[in-house]
Amino acid sequence: MVSKARGGFRKAGRLAGASIFVVPVRDLCVILGDQLGRRSPLLERASRSEDMLWMAEAAEESTHVPSHKARTALFLSAMRHHAGWLRKSGWKLDYRRLDEKDNCGSLGGELRAAIRRWRPRRVVAVEAGEWRIERMFNKVCREEGVEIVWLSDPHFFASREEFRRHAGGRKQLRMEYFYRELRRRHGILMDGGEPCGGRWNFDAENREHFPPQGPGLVPPPVSFAPDAETEEVFRLVEKRFPRNPGSLAGFDWPVTPEQAQAALNDFIERRLERFGQYQDAMWAGEPVLYHSRLSAAMNLKLLEARDVVAAAEAAWREGRAPLAAVEGFIRQILGWREYVRGVYWLWMPEYGEWNELNAHAPLPRFYWTGETEMRCLREVIGQTLRTGYAHHIQRLMVTGLFALLAGVAPRQVHEWYLAIYVDAVEWVELPNVLGMSQFADGGRMASKPYAATGKYIARMSNYCRGCRYDPAHRTGERACPFTVLYWDFLMRQEDRLRRVPRMEMQLRNLARIEPAERRSVRKKAQEILREVC
Ligand code: FAD
Ligand code: SF4
Repeated sequence: MVSKARGGFRKAGRLAGASIFVVPVRDLCVILGDQLGRRSPLLERASRSEDMLWMAEAAEESTHVPSHKARTALFLSAMRHHAGWLRKSGWKLDYRRLDEKDNCGSLGGELRAAIRRWRPRRVVAVEAGEWRIERMFNKVCREEGVEIVWLSDPHFFASREEFRRHAGGRKQLRMEYFYRELRRRHGILMDGGEPCGGRWNFDAENREHFPPQGPGLVPPPVSFAPDAETEEVFRLVEKRFPRNPGSLAGFDWPVTPEQAQAALNDFIERRLERFGQYQDAMWAGEPVLYHSRLSAAMNLKLLEARDVVAAAEAAWREGRAPLAAVEGFIRQILGWREYVRGVYWLWMPEYGEWNELNAHAPLPRFYWTGETEMRCLREVIGQTLRTGYAHHIQRLMVTGLFALLAGVAPRQVHEWYLAIYVDAVEWVELPNVLGMSQFADGGRMASKPYAATGKYIARMSNYCRGCRYDPAHRTGERACPFTVLYWDFLMRQEDRLRRVPRMEMQLRNLARIEPAERRSVRKKAQEILREVC
């Protein structure tokens, strides 16, 4: 490769397998694996004749945490499909495959090589989904003497700056206030200046459990059979990451925008109606229930969040779904999803290190195998290893809850979640894990720890039926580990939790337990922790 001045014409040896040609490069436009939108701001401002698009597969992204095979396969397959579409649309694309001999294995190393190959005037990228990547790219560009320009990501309803302004001067952040602000600003589910139906929140009508006979026939989500491109990715993943967790056997995720749109249509038509009512319910052998299974498609930008929200609102306005279900669903996206992104960028990089409950136990080994006698954990982890998916309450009130009660180090919990779910990208995973589920930020994001006994799981699922433990017992042979560890957690954290107003009732209940019973609980908890951690 012979290069002329930066931004000038040069002879390049290789472009997506093509032979030698001459090409002028103005901007090297970075497309990351979670930026596969066809309406990307990068494409809107780039020039087909002057700029070079760049995409790279990097082994490090599957090994810095041991990524579930389905997560790696989803990213690689969706990236390769996007690359095919870009080429067909006439873009110049430098695409680095994982299996190319000289692929150095890291995104930073590959970017450096691309800068040396193309000598662009600038590197242009849309804001990354991970602080680590932005730091890495800034460093590479600084060292190579090239300017890097970060574009704001219009996929989100609020920019990082808008959230910063919302947070500025507030003593305490709460999702609800930000959600209302966004609904007003974007006119979503609004009737003039008022929320549709006269209320911001329909939680009281939502969150039921199933009757004892179970959920009955739930419409299964639409499934996408792997095509030849995806099959090739499977072979690569098995070859390169044989020891990574998870299975590819049931992989049926959407990997193109067309498939993602079909998944959205399927959810709106067949499951949205009951989303709110059963959003917190769990049932063995029913991983999806009335959930949308759209998080991965949205996080990779195969689907625009705005389109998802608009489709849900239209379903209500056209009388196809009740307001309580639609508001509950929109709240997850316009509320929680935007809020966690805001707090991630507000508090990183310190956020990743917070450990306000001083938790240091190792993550139990069964998180990687599902081999435990606790049926709830066996079901949820087993399903996660098979599919890379669990719905919110399974993540928060089964796997997350156990780690919280057992005092597992938040960093280890975070690394597990980042590795194991197909939709895991750090901006959304980390605040959910460290903030919402582990209370490692001491309540900066959520108003109280999500701590509960096994009775919560018994109420919301059928997991406890057929489990060798009993959620009502906190001592004795059949004592449920969740119940034992819950009381032990309150005892261990009593002083800290006194400062959390919403924990008052739980601490009052703790005060009713006699000292002898407390000692038995403590002893049992230590036994359990010794056994599992
Ligand atoms: P649905 O229940 O159908 O909800 C609709 C959409 O709302 C989701 O697709 C998602 O985009 C959004 N949403 C719902 N809850 C949240 C939330 N708490 N934060 C942000 N967005 C939300 N979500 C991820 O996308 N990636 C993660 O890595 C991730 N890790 C999590 C870890 C923990 C400990 C917890 C408690 C939650 C995590 N979530 C994560 C949030 C939520 O569990 C998933 O978005 C949801 O389960 C995905 O399934 P679904 O698409 O069927 O969601
Ligand atoms: Fe889980 Fe306890 Fe219920 Fe068993 S009894 S399924 S361990 S909550």
